[in-house]
Amino acid sequence: MREYARGPSTQEDLKSRGEAIKDLVEKLLRLLGEDPRREGLRETPDRVSRMWIEELAVGYFVDPLSYVKTFEVEEYESREGLIAVTNVPTRSTCEHHLLPFFGYTHVVYVPSGRVLGFSKFARVVKVLSSKLQIQERLTEQIADFLDEVLKPKGLVVVQEMLHTCALIRGVEESMTMTTAALRGVFREQRELASLALQVINSSKLPVPKFEGF
Ligand SMILES: [Zn+2]
Repeated sequence: MREYARGPSTQEDLKSRGEAIKDLVEKLLRLLGEDPRREGLRETPDRVSRMWIEELAVGYFVDPLSYVKTFEVEEYESREGLIAVTNVPTRSTCEHHLLPFFGYTHVVYVPSGRVLGFSKFARVVKVLSSKLQIQERLTEQIADFLDEVLKPKGLVVVQEMLHTCALIRGVEESMTMTTAALRGVFREQRELASLALQVINSSKLPVPKFEGF
């Protein structure tokens, strides 16, 4: 089974993982010298545990295929036109620091009979992003998944993200990283690839910048 398409977990399994994470967070609070019983922290272990299980790490427990229903559209078969889905809000967690990185995902593809509903792109990106990731791999995984589901003639995935681990620690700079994955005709035809990048560049929203500390 593909690494990103692990099957759904049972409710029981999720519950016991949740309890264990809760204990871990409580332990972390203690190790930091805090009193986990004080007013402001009392609900924190439970809140943090639910945040990981239900949101930030949900990609470990859900198969992204369950979010996807491709629309077979015959009239696309003979067409060579591009479809662009830009500015899909994206957030993930960096596997080196467990800190968020966020920005936008842009997809351009040339369909071969299959197209995907607009909101489905957002769901697929969300599930694949909801794991510990590095941006380079995330971009490739989104491309692989869409390639597999849509079987397009070509596909471009571009991500522009701000990494909070660079912003709030280390170099403390507001740096954005751009990654791109190309498949099919976009690999073979440079002109088509630059057209796709032009489409993305002309419609993409800027990733917010923070002017430093
Ligand atoms: Zn990091």
